Amino acid sequence: MCIFCKIIDHQIDAAWVHQTEDVVVFADACPSAPGHVLVIPKRHVEKVTDLSKEEAMKLYDVVFDVQKAMVDVWQVPGQNLQINSGAIAGQEVFHAHIHVIPRKSPRSGQSPVFVALETRMKAVEALRAYFNTCPIQS
Ligand code: AMP
Ligand code: ZN
Repeated sequence: MCIFCKIIDHQIDAAWVHQTEDVVVFADACPSAPGHVLVIPKRHVEKVTDLSKEEAMKLYDVVFDVQKAMVDVWQVPGQNLQINSGAIAGQEVFHAHIHVIPRKSPRSGQSPVFVALETRMKAVEALRAYFNTCPIQS
């Protein structure tokens, strides 16, 4: 089982933010900025292009909600979306995912480092509360 499937299966801890029937959102362990999250399908596929178009749209639907939540909760002035699809493009975890990176300040240029689970939990606390208190209906 891949590392993201283990997160979905609760075999590995993660700082969960939100989930729908088909999609899970949790904090990246090596964030490019505080609040960096990954949006992943529950179904294991290696790359986003292995999803059906309908599944890809459901994934993007959640990406959009996460972006809106970041604006509402943190008033972020900017965000980056990133999809690394295939080893040649820098994909390291072969379970499809989309990065949503809030930009509260300009990019530091430093390489991301591992952040403890507790710190990740704190970083996404307000975002998690937003989804718990204002669940978005699809
Ligand atoms: P990439 O495959 O290059 O698009 O990125 C994979 C991302 O998954 C990296 O940003 C990692 O920091 C992140 N990652 C790897 N393992 C975990 C984990 N157990 N929990 C949260 N994020 C992870
Ligand atoms: Zn998987």
